[in-house]
Amino acid sequence: MTHPIQDLPSSADVVVVGGGVVGTSIAYFCSRAGVRVCLLERDDIGAGTTSAAAAAALLQTKTSATKLAFANESLALLDQLHDEFDRSFEFEHTGSLLAACSETEWQVVQDVAATLQKLGLAVQMVDGAQARALMPVLGPTVLGASFSPADAQVNPLELVMAYARAARRLGAQLCIGVQVTGIEKQGDRIVAVMTNKGKIRTGTVVNAAGVWASRVAQMVGLEMPVAPLKGELLITQAMLRRMRGTLISAKYLLSKASTTATADATSPKRTVGITLVQVARGNFLVGSTREPAGYDSRNTYAGISELCRLLADITPSLANVHVIRAYAGLRPLTPDQMPIIGRAPGLPGFIAATGHGGDGLAFSAITGKIVAEIFSGTVDSDKLKPFAWERFDAN
Ligand SMILES: Cc1cc2nc3c(=O)[nH]c(=O)nc-3n(C[C@H](O)[C@H](O)[C@H](O)COP(=O)(O)OP(=O)(O)OC[C@H]3O[C@@H](n4cnc5c(N)ncnc54)[C@H](O)[C@@H]3O)c2cc1C
Repeated sequence: MTHPIQDLPSSADVVVVGGGVVGTSIAYFCSRAGVRVCLLERDDIGAGTTSAAAAAALLQTKTSATKLAFANESLALLDQLHDEFDRSFEFEHTGSLLAACSETEWQVVQDVAATLQKLGLAVQMVDGAQARALMPVLGPTVLGASFSPADAQVNPLELVMAYARAARRLGAQLCIGVQVTGIEKQGDRIVAVMTNKGKIRTGTVVNAAGVWASRVAQMVGLEMPVAPLKGELLITQAMLRRMRGTLISAKYLLSKASTTATADATSPKRTVGITLVQVARGNFLVGSTREPAGYDSRNTYAGISELCRLLADITPSLANVHVIRAYAGLRPLTPDQMPIIGRAPGLPGFIAATGHGGDGLAFSAITGKIVAEIFSGTVDSDKLKPFAWERFDAN
């Protein structure tokens, strides 16, 4: 996709800060509702955390009723958009296996499956042999797994570009290379956004700046509890199709549950678990570490070697496959691992849409739809409560 440099408009109904998967989804859904949107991205579309994501849109990792309902609704929207948009973003319900390699992990998998079944997600328990029949790359260390057929796969860069293209077609102005440097207020109203390329008059700013959202919030004097949590990933050589769906090791789920993020690198404790997807072009995408390392997004020897070790353990047939690239990104994480979506306390023209952690692809569509509803005043306020900024009492 080419991005002709668009001039900064002098005014907009809504200015969206950030051109990741969240900001572009918001630009799309707001434009679809007839709102004049200007999206500002200091780098390029998808250049932030979105370009470092794996390729999963998972339900099986959402063990709270709120998160599961949110993910279900978002995946249903992604189904519709995949039919409507002009180009595929490789969204497919290929299913996922949550696999256990020890008795302790097997207990975790069974507990998670029981919770998900109570919440209404169709998951099926399989033993080691059945797991290997579903996913032949799995080795003998896998004792059993739970299988969720509704879990999906998606290409993050195709998704962000699809939102961006569709938003533009509906009239949104997507200005890249434009850094927001300040936000002008009059009392409790927003009046303008200042950038390195000039000023835009607006009454509404949506903060979709991912791990940088706290810096944008500081421009209006607000604290936003979103911090970066580094994740390292590997990509292997492309191969003929060897598996379908996403493999999630129980270690990954345990790692996800145990981590918190910090804005600095004071407690750099790394946890690791495997997620594995074979993408459309045949490469295996191997995730991921979780490490509070501030804004440092470099790969580490320790992170890479731990990923290789765990991969060889759970899928020994891939042990000699060439790793062609390692990269890392920063998940925007809140203290309770739930996004912040809603108007700021005391500053209604400032809308937060960030803190999606390791689920931003999966949650992107529903976030865009909700922000459009917030702007138009049609949002179901009960639905917003779990995402409210006020829950942290930080402001
Ligand atoms: C290792 C890893 C694996 C992941 N795997 C998955 C997965 O499989 N499935 C899933 O659902 N999610 C996954 N995620 C999470 C997902 O990538 C994120 O939740 C999502 O990309 C966040 O999107 P965003 O739009 O909020 O942020 P970003 O993509 O970071 O976008 C924010 C944008 O704001 C811009 N910006 C910041 N400040 C300014 C400013 N002042 N002015 C202008 N622009 C500004 C930045 O340049 C950036 O492009 C993964 C994340 C990581 C790190």
